[in-house]
Amino acid sequence: MIAKIQELLEEVEKLKASNLEEVEALRIKYLSKKGSLNALMADFRNVPAEMKKEVGMKLNDLKAKAQEKIAALKEAVDTQDCGTGELDLTRTAYPVSLGTRHPLTIVKNEIVDIFSRLGFTLAEGPEIEDDWHVYSSMNFADDHPARDMQDTFFVEARPDIVLRSHTSSVQARVMESQQPPIRVICPGRVYRNEAISARAHCFFHQVEGLYIDKNVSFTDLKQVLLLFAQEMFGKDTKIRLRPSYFPFTEPSAEMDISCNICGGEGCSFCKHTGWVEILGCGMVDPAVLEANGIDSSVYTGYAFGMGIERITNLKYQVKDLRMFSENDTRFLEEFKSAN
Ligand SMILES: [Zn+2]
Repeated sequence: MIAKIQELLEEVEKLKASNLEEVEALRIKYLSKKGSLNALMADFRNVPAEMKKEVGMKLNDLKAKAQEKIAALKEAVDTQDCGTGELDLTRTAYPVSLGTRHPLTIVKNEIVDIFSRLGFTLAEGPEIEDDWHVYSSMNFADDHPARDMQDTFFVEARPDIVLRSHTSSVQARVMESQQPPIRVICPGRVYRNEAISARAHCFFHQVEGLYIDKNVSFTDLKQVLLLFAQEMFGKDTKIRLRPSYFPFTEPSAEMDISCNICGGEGCSFCKHTGWVEILGCGMVDPAVLEANGIDSSVYTGYAFGMGIERITNLKYQVKDLRMFSENDTRFLEEFKSAN
């Protein structure tokens, strides 16, 4: 019996395993119910009484050694698996590919930056708005076509709630919450019920500006917009203002810049006119000031608004509006150097 224990002890000390399956096979061979250790335990009852103490101690010693050895083999195999697997701590860090800013974000940041330098502060508002802030406070007549179901997304259960169709609603929120002087720039996403094509989308982005103070004049507006155009498109850029109509400004104008592709000579981009339209602007209609709690006999102001997609197209000649929202990384990576 003692010789058998000694033999097994030597066997156990020499055990080797190179993977978890082999460790498990050893555990079954020595430590399981039908394993060789249990077989020895069963023989123990046949050991003469005077030898029971010595044999018992040796048996316990063998069992402890076998458990210890198999546990050690298991741990070695576990550690080895980590070392030879996916994780190689000696490798240099593989290149992590950084994303790029979206072109619309790049251009929005640039617009906001230019106006920030002129003293405009950022204002933002909700995209789901009520009729008052989107239309009524902006001097839209009750039967204005913008209020038509064909043009604007209405919330079915609450027809006075809409997805804002312009960022002018943010101007309204600023005017109702603070008195002049007001000088804010409001970027944001707007929604219109348009069929999606290369030239139109059901959502796009705007930046609007609002300046209200005593003695604000159209000359101030023109000077600020000229400065903006030259900062955005180059110092040789010229502007021209054409009379137009908007419900919230009077007088109103649309602004063109000299075509930045042909330099004003005429090309297919500017339809051979040398000019491209970039924004709408005007003096805030006194009715809008009054509707928003500002005394129009004391204060005057100007406002302007532009589409960020439009400005981005002018800067980068993106031919199809849909590319801005298709999340094609090949398109987005084109703007890496502009970041
Ligand atoms: Zn041109």
